[in-house]
Amino acid sequence: MEATIEVDGLRKRFGRTLALDGMSFAVRPGEVTGFVGPNGAGKSTTMRVILGLDAADAGRALVGGRPYRSLRDPLRHIGALLDAAALQPSRTARNHLLWLAHSQGLGAGRVGAVLDRVGLAGAARRRAGGFSLGMRQRLGIAAALLADPPILMLDEPFNGLDPDGIRWMRGFLASLAAEGRAILVSSHLMSELQDTADHLIVAGRGRVVADAGVGELLAAA
Ligand code: ADP
Ligand code: ADP
Repeated sequence: MEATIEVDGLRKRFGRTLALDGMSFAVRPGEVTGFVGPNGAGKSTTMRVILGLDAADAGRALVGGRPYRSLRDPLRHIGALLDAAALQPSRTARNHLLWLAHSQGLGAGRVGAVLDRVGLAGAARRRAGGFSLGMRQRLGIAAALLADPPILMLDEPFNGLDPDGIRWMRGFLASLAAEGRAILVSSHLMSELQDTADHLIVAGRGRVVADAGVGELLAAA
């Protein structure tokens, strides 16, 4: 399967709020695509529609050329970090991942590798309830990587990180893209993405206001 996300003409209304108003863009393999825009621009809603968690009123969202809901084994195609708070606080990091691996029909084999990958090997036996936000983000990303998907989608992964955490996250995203994965990463701060992303999608009021390579976009600014 190709490691791509395509959204085309997404529209979504919540009551009187038009959350998505023709959102369209594509995410390619081997690149970090930054999805930047102010709070309320429609980034999270777009990601939820891509994952089939929200239904769009119009338009379509394709993961590797297919709607998420039609993928036979979706977690093997796309991993997502939408909400780092969705953890069982009393479980250790390792048990959290073992439980997720089990519920996804995966063996325990990759748990150690993903903990290592996100830099949590040393905290594997600590309870996730005592983790900092940055450690929770890492644990959420480890969970998204369990099935080794070629596509990753991270909503505001820089939130709550200290400068070391931000540096780590940047290098980590680049290393995932260097493996050929397609990475879509959102932020409300251009500064978090401009040195990290290969490509930027700038969103505002439910639509794309700019879509370009980073060099091109910053030269125009
Ligand atoms: P972003 O992720 O860019 O901050 P969101 O996609 O979260 O933007 O929100 C887009 C708009 O849709 C905002 O006005 C937000 O308040 C609204 N919205 C999002 N989810 C819901 C919901 N479940 N119910 C009502 N309004 C929502
Ligand atoms: P809930 O409302 O209880 O969180 P959801 O159906 O919204 O249940 O989603 C369950 C969890 O699975 C959410 O935390 C969501 O972010 C996560 N999720 C959904 N699709 C994926 C995916 N492809 N990769 C990783 N996590 C996912």
